[in-house]
Amino acid sequence: MIESKLKSAIRDIPDFPKPGILFKDITPILKDASLCQEIVNAFAEKLKGDQIDIIAGIESRGFLFGLMLAAKLEVPFVPIRKQGKLPFNKIQEPCELEYGSAILELHEDAIFPGQRVLIHDDLLATGGTVNAATRLVQQLEGIVAGYAFVISLDFLKGKESLKMHSDKIISLVSY
Ligand code: AMP
Repeated sequence: MIESKLKSAIRDIPDFPKPGILFKDITPILKDASLCQEIVNAFAEKLKGDQIDIIAGIESRGFLFGLMLAAKLEVPFVPIRKQGKLPFNKIQEPCELEYGSAILELHEDAIFPGQRVLIHDDLLATGGTVNAATRLVQQLEGIVAGYAFVISLDFLKGKESLKMHSDKIISLVSY
């Protein structure tokens, strides 16, 4: 039900930001307030009974539903950002992307040892980004409680690279 609504809303942009990439544009979802609410409710439903202490959202589209979900679950939200954006003391991890590479950063006081962290991004492709996010959480001795994505590009096998960290891998629509 939500899957078909998402499939109709998501706009495919060929060759963006590089030739050969079929970009999944989620901005039409953001214009549909009730669909945004459904996304957050669907995540919350799938997380029922799980202990989540913190949601870590990945820049920048991981902030959108990450913060909404944190508000729904009444837990803190922490931003994982690209290099040079966070103002306070931070830790770093390099990551490989479907279309490039980057360094991700997290404030050193974002997570306390033993806290259970749900990592969220809008889309899972190769898994390079969330694996770097996982290492950031682990550097601060957090526990990865699971992963939540709106979209998974299953043909890129990102989920396979996450299974060793958690068997809770949520996606609402797969391609
Ligand atoms: P990856 O590290 O390969 O799993 O890539 C995931 C990150 O890159 C996410 O932050 C996505 O927002 C972005 N991304 C990768 N591929 C696409 C795509 N085809 N369409 C939209 N965003 C993408």
